[in-house]
Amino acid sequence: MRLVKWMGAKIADNIAGVVLTAIGSVLFVYLMPMWEYIKLAWSWLSAPVQVAMGFVILPFLIIVLIALGLIRSFMIRRRLPMPPAWLSYREDEFEGAVWRWGYDSNGQIERLVPYCKKCDCALEAKKFGLGRSIAMYCVDCNHSYSAFGPNVSPEYAQSIIVRLIDRNLRRNYNRLKAEE
Ligand SMILES: [Zn+2]
Repeated sequence: MRLVKWMGAKIADNIAGVVLTAIGSVLFVYLMPMWEYIKLAWSWLSAPVQVAMGFVILPFLIIVLIALGLIRSFMIRRRLPMPPAWLSYREDEFEGAVWRWGYDSNGQIERLVPYCKKCDCALEAKKFGLGRSIAMYCVDCNHSYSAFGPNVSPEYAQSIIVRLIDRNLRRNYNRLKAEE
C-alpha cells in the first residue's frame, strides 16, 4: 500500500513536470520570435542611412519660419486694439457739478449723468421758481447746484452739457480724431 502511494505520487510529480516543461517550451517557442522581431525593428530604426542635407535642414527651416510667423501675428494682435485717446475723456466739471458719460459705437455721447462734487451721489433735476427753472439737487448732502435758465427742461440741460463736451473734444482731441 505504501509503495502504491509512493508510485502514484511519483507519477503525478512526473506528469506535473512534463506539463510545466511543455508550457515553458510553448512560451519559449512563441516569445522568442517576438523578441527577434523587436530586435529587428530596433536595428532597422536605428540603422544609419545616407540622406541629402535638405531632408534634415528643410523641416528645421519650416519649423523656424512657422514659429517666427506665430510670434509676428501675436505682436501685431497686441499692438492693434489701442483705443483713440478721446475715448478716455469721460468725466469733466460743468455748472459746478461732475458729469460722467460714455460713448456709443458711433462715438456719440451717452449715459450722461451729473454727480455731486462733495459726496459723489448722482444728482436730481429739481424744478423751482414756479417750475420755470431747474437746479441739480443732491438727495444725500442736500447741496444744490447752479440753475439753468428759465424754460430749460432736464433734457435741454443735458443737451447743453453734451455741446460743451463736444466743444472740448474738438478743442483737445481734434488732431487725434483726424488721425483715426
Ligand atoms: Zn452730495
